[in-house]
Amino acid sequence: MTIETDVAIIGAGPIGLFAVFELGLLDLKCHLIDILDRPGGQCTELYPEKPIYDIPGLPIVTGQELVKRLLEQIKPFDPQFHFGEMATGLEKLADGRWKLKTDAGTEIVAPVIVVAAGAGSFQPKRPPVPGIEKFENAGDGIGVHYAVRKMETFRGKNILIAGGGDSALDWVINLAPLAKSVTLVHHRDGFRAAQHSVNQMRELEAAGKVKFHVASVKQVHGEPGKLTGVTLSGADKSEWHHETDTFLPFFGLTIKLGPIAEFGINLHENLIPVDTARFESQTPGIFAIGDINSYTGKLKLILSGFHEAALMAQAAFHICKPNEKLRFQYTTSSSNLQKKLGVS
Ligand SMILES: Cc1cc2nc3c(=O)[nH]c(=O)nc-3n(C[C@H](O)[C@H](O)[C@H](O)COP(=O)(O)OP(=O)(O)OC[C@H]3O[C@@H](n4cnc5c(N)ncnc54)[C@H](O)[C@@H]3O)c2cc1C
Repeated sequence: MTIETDVAIIGAGPIGLFAVFELGLLDLKCHLIDILDRPGGQCTELYPEKPIYDIPGLPIVTGQELVKRLLEQIKPFDPQFHFGEMATGLEKLADGRWKLKTDAGTEIVAPVIVVAAGAGSFQPKRPPVPGIEKFENAGDGIGVHYAVRKMETFRGKNILIAGGGDSALDWVINLAPLAKSVTLVHHRDGFRAAQHSVNQMRELEAAGKVKFHVASVKQVHGEPGKLTGVTLSGADKSEWHHETDTFLPFFGLTIKLGPIAEFGINLHENLIPVDTARFESQTPGIFAIGDINSYTGKLKLILSGFHEAALMAQAAFHICKPNEKLRFQYTTSSSNLQKKLGVS
């Protein structure tokens, strides 16, 4: 699928999200790619419930609430999200635009690329089960998966989920209605997930729709590419065989710069050096904002990334619309901006 747009943004963390607002005010349309299955980057993945105290005008706001408010703020600009996709390749086209490719086959052609990739892409931790890698990438809905990209591919399957956090419980709850069976295993009878998710999981367990064992996966069985079952080990060290078509381990995420390192953008210590007037990398048309960039005096704060997004948008406008003049306007007094925001 090839999409043409004004700006392709790598990363839907808080800074990628706010970039949509600043670009939208200038009539620039955006597509965002994130390897995660939801927006918010570090705010959502690392500290959703923690209060942040240094967002201007919001004396206290949790990571998750900030993301919710950013999504509300950018809604008028109808950003298009590509979740669960890794930006894997970048190529310059003969007409001067860029083609950004993802591992899901999406191709986005745009004159401007904004790298808002934070500390890099969140990648799943592989559990310490010997030979597990032989069952990865086995195909839709079978074998070992670290993310659910299309729920439908798991319909009618026997699913084993391992983990005790939000992702594990969210997928138990979401997949239970369409799976043949869902079994959850966790090494203790307690969870790190939101209480309402724990309650829902317990209700499904009580209704016989989900099985839960205090156990861990010791071994995986089957032919390479075709998982047939696992050996589970209980708290009392007893072991038993469990038949399953698919195994979804949710053991947390690590952050790696990932494929951006191969994009040919100049990097210094895994960060993208930028100028502080445009927040453009040393490759014209490729901008870097938020935690991924570096410049003298850089502070890795959300506040700094918001400022960077505003200046980046002004520069991006001149690349996307070279024959148009940019007029500085306030949202308070410009009826034109208010119309775009749907408030007048
Ligand atoms: C515990 C903790 C507390 C914090 N508290 C505060 C605070 O109080 N105040 C404050 O201002 N800041 C705080 N921060 C820092 C703040 O969270 C970061 O500055 C902010 O998240 C940076 O936003 P970002 O959008 O640049 O990057 P991120 O939030 O890291 O988002 C980047 C996104 O890009 C995606 N991505 C990267 N590469 C790819 C790729 N190749 N393909 C697809 N997707 C990709 C990632 O999956 C990620 O979702 C805190 C951070 C932590 C960890």
